[in-house]
Amino acid sequence: MEKISGGSTFSGLSRFPSNAKWRVPPSADLQAILSSGTVEESVVHSRVRRLLERMYREGRLCSATSATDIGVVMNEIFPMPGQLDQAAYERYIDPADRTMVYHSVRDAYTTPNTANRANLGTAMQDAATTALAVSNDATGLRAVFGPTEWSTAQAGYRLIHNRLIAISADIEHRISTDYNLDAEETFLGRWASFDDQHIHLLSRVVSDPLTPQSKVTLLHEASHLAASRIDDYGYYGSPGFEAAEEATKVNNAAHYEELPRRIWGISRYAGQTFTPGLSSSGAPLTTEEQIRAEGVEYYRLAWDAAANFDKLIKDVRRNQLDGTPLDGATVARMLEVSPLMDLTLHEQMISPPEVTGLDITTSESIVRAMGMAMRNVPNVPNVMPMGSFLSAADEIAAGVSLAVDAAMAAYGGLLGDAARDRRLVDWLHDHYRNVYP
Ligand SMILES: [Zn+2]
Repeated sequence: MEKISGGSTFSGLSRFPSNAKWRVPPSADLQAILSSGTVEESVVHSRVRRLLERMYREGRLCSATSATDIGVVMNEIFPMPGQLDQAAYERYIDPADRTMVYHSVRDAYTTPNTANRANLGTAMQDAATTALAVSNDATGLRAVFGPTEWSTAQAGYRLIHNRLIAISADIEHRISTDYNLDAEETFLGRWASFDDQHIHLLSRVVSDPLTPQSKVTLLHEASHLAASRIDDYGYYGSPGFEAAEEATKVNNAAHYEELPRRIWGISRYAGQTFTPGLSSSGAPLTTEEQIRAEGVEYYRLAWDAAANFDKLIKDVRRNQLDGTPLDGATVARMLEVSPLMDLTLHEQMISPPEVTGLDITTSESIVRAMGMAMRNVPNVPNVMPMGSFLSAADEIAAGVSLAVDAAMAAYGGLLGDAARDRRLVDWLHDHYRNVYP
C-alpha cells in the first residue's frame, strides 16, 4: 500500500495552472462502453454530461464551438440510442490533446526517459549540496524551526542530503513520472513513499529539473524519504504557514523548503524569523485567519484522500488491462466510493465491476475539484459564524464548516447537490491516509 504525500502545486494558492483541465475518455472508449452493455446508457450519458459541464465551467471545450447549452452538445454527441457521433464529439474535444482526452493509464506511471536522467541526477546532487549547507546554518535553522527543534531539523537535512545522493544513483528504480499528465490534472504534482523509498514526479520536473522550483520539489519529496515522521501539515505559503508550532514545523516537509528557497532566491519569507502563533506582520492570527487556515487544511486532507483513491482506481485499471484479478477488499472500497462520486462501478451489471475510462476521468475530476475548492478557502466571504460559542475552538469549528461549504459553492458544486458534495468532502477528509483497504 503506497501512501501519497502531496504536491507542490498547492504552494501557490493564487496560481492556477492554465494548462491543466478536465478530461474525458476518447470517443472509441465511450463507444465501447455503450456497446458493451455493462452500464446502462442513461448512466453513461449522465457521467459524460457532468464531465462536459465541468470542462465547460473552466472554459475549455474547443473554442471553435459556441455552444453554451450542454443539453444541445449532448444531443449532438449522442444522436441515437447506443451511438456516439465521433465527429460531433471531436468538435468539442480535440482527440490528440492529452489535456482534453485521457490517453493511457500506463503512461501515467512510468520510468523517466533516458534522455532526462542525467540532468535529474545533477539536480538531485545540487539539492543535496544545499541541504548539507543548510544543516550547518544554525542561525537559519533557529529562525525557521525555533529554539527547541532546530537541531532535529539539522539532523533532518543531513538525512535529506543522504537520500538525495542515494536516489540520484538509482533513478531508474527510485523515480517515476507521468507523461499522461494525470498529476497536472489533479494538482498532485508529485508524491513520495517512505516505505518504498520512491518518488513520483511531474513530467515537467523530469524534463526541466535544474530550475530552483524543480529542485525545491526534489528536496521536498526527499524529506518524506528521510524520516517517516516528515509528512505534509500545510503547504508552502498556505495561511498560517509562518505561524505554525515548532512541533509541526519540524515534521512538515514544506518547512524544509524554506532555507533552501532562501539560498535559491525563491523564498516568500526571506530574512524572517518564524514565531508560532504570529503572522509575518507580527500580529497574532485572528479567529477568521485561524478558520481559513483550518479550512484549507480540511480540503488538503480531502484532496489527499481523493488523490489516493484516484491512484487506487488507476492501479486497478492497469491490473485489469494486465488480467490481474482484484482482491475483495479493493472491490468493496471501490463500490463504497462509486455512489459517493457518481462513478459507474455500482451501476454496472457485471461483478467485479470494470474500471472504465469514465470512472478514471470522473475520479480525477474530483481530485481536481478538491484542489480548486481548497484554493477558494482563503477568499470566500462570510466564514465567521453567527451566535455565541462556549469556546474559541467551537467557534473555529463552526467557521470551518461554513468555509468548507462556501468554498465548494464558489467552485460551482460537484454533484448538483450541496449536501451530497459535503458528504463526499467529509468522507474523503475522514479517510485521509486510509483510502487503500
Ligand atoms: Zn509532501
